[in-house]
Amino acid sequence: MQPVFRFAPSPNGELHLGHAFSALTDYAQCQAADGRFLLRIEDIDRGRCRPEYEHGIYRDLAWLGLTWEEPVRRQSEHGAEYRKAINALRERGLVYPAFLSRAELATMTADPGWPRDPDGAPLYPDSERKRLSAADIAARTAAGQPHTLRLDMTRAIEAVGATAWHEDTEGTVVADPAAWGDVILARRDAEASYHLAVVVDDDAQGVTNVVRGRDLYYATAVHVVLQRLLGLPTPRYHHHRLITDAAGRKLSKSDRDTSLRALREGGATPADIRRMVGL
Ligand code: GLU
Repeated sequence: MQPVFRFAPSPNGELHLGHAFSALTDYAQCQAADGRFLLRIEDIDRGRCRPEYEHGIYRDLAWLGLTWEEPVRRQSEHGAEYRKAINALRERGLVYPAFLSRAELATMTADPGWPRDPDGAPLYPDSERKRLSAADIAARTAAGQPHTLRLDMTRAIEAVGATAWHEDTEGTVVADPAAWGDVILARRDAEASYHLAVVVDDDAQGVTNVVRGRDLYYATAVHVVLQRLLGLPTPRYHHHRLITDAAGRKLSKSDRDTSLRALREGGATPADIRRMVGL
């Protein structure tokens, strides 16, 4: 079977040198494996995504010399698939509505000793979930109280047992999904979270090889648990090094100096970009 690779940027800013490194690394691995290369626009968070950034993604990637299959998958067009996956988990008692607002959550978890996930976000309080009876939940939901949908990670881990994935440079990596606590599957303002959408999309697109930044290494544990729960295959993973600025910080989309657009308009060529990211 021909391997399938994908690049999955979010159109919430200009692509920068970090994206160029990721896309070029991904593309080179795909070509070396004689694979198919797909593009996915991760625009589930509609409040932060803009059409001009999506056009910028096509323009910048084409300029770098990449080609991809059409049609491009856009997350904003697949809400029904995400809802179906969440409902399947919900029917198995693995999902619960979480009613704490961001401000309430921040207050309840302000203690510096409060457990945090690998990205530094506070874990959702267990007490809060246990405090609400089924009748409370039904009444709040019927009254239209805003909520997110969270995965009951303890039950999810009980259901799937120990999990692992194959990391290209390391071999088998034992996943630690418990470190993430009850991750969000659907937000108040978006029908799916990144974690849920990425798992559904990778399966829908038949992705066999995920090449992405090291910043998503630990999140793979959540993705593997969701794949097991939903009966989906786990791709192979390759988490590459991150491009940092002179101070060693991860690049940000708000930093104009490293945007591909600004560099191109300043006269840089694709070969210059490769050199700048050490390729
Ligand atoms: N959309 C994510 C990002 O731009 C990448 C997701 C992934 O490759 O799994 O960081």
